[in-house]
Amino acid sequence: MKENLAHLKELQTIDLQISQLESQMAAAAAGLAARKALIAEHEAKAKDLAEKIESLEQRRLELEGEVETDVARIRDRQGKLMSVQTNREYQSLLKETDDAKKANKQREEEAIQLMEQIEACKAKAAEEENLRAADETLLAEETAQSEQQTTELSAAKEKILKQRAAKAKVVAAAMLKKYDMLRERRNGIAVVEVVQGVCRGCHMNIPPQLFNELRKEQALISCPTCNRIMFYQPEAE
Ligand SMILES: [Zn+2]
Repeated sequence: MKENLAHLKELQTIDLQISQLESQMAAAAAGLAARKALIAEHEAKAKDLAEKIESLEQRRLELEGEVETDVARIRDRQGKLMSVQTNREYQSLLKETDDAKKANKQREEEAIQLMEQIEACKAKAAEEENLRAADETLLAEETAQSEQQTTELSAAKEKILKQRAAKAKVVAAAMLKKYDMLRERRNGIAVVEVVQGVCRGCHMNIPPQLFNELRKEQALISCPTCNRIMFYQPEAE
């Protein structure tokens, strides 16, 4: 029994190493995914800005067209002013010319504001592009690092999986089954030490009688609270 418990303890150590390797691999993958998400964000912002620039530009062109139309109107009305017959007609042409001039002045003011907005959007778009390019560079570096790391981690994992297989063979089948089941249900930890009568898995006290049994190391004893396989760990000095 003592031997079996020793095997299980070793198996637990191996399994913890495996899960550590797996979380390192997952962290590397998550890092790359986060970088890619940042790049996508910059792309989305740049696309929004490009659309905004286009619609502002469209409005600006529209205004330009309107200004040209009114310039032609003003020229036409001014030409007619020379040959009017009545004062009423004269006043009417004068008002039309005046209105067109006022409208054009407003359009020109709006066009200036549009130009400013377009410039601001272009500056923001350039900034997004710079950020995206910087993130692309980082992604390339991180991908290379991650590939190397993954190769190393995979090799380490492969080696340790072999160790696990060898260790699993020497553990009694029923015990291995119980161990694997516990590991699955108890967050990867199936074998725990008991220090000063406290289970290190669930931090609950175990009954003194059970603790005495545990010290004898003659039977496989489970924690009454978390059900993990316990082993006695003498207190460190
Ligand atoms: Zn426990």
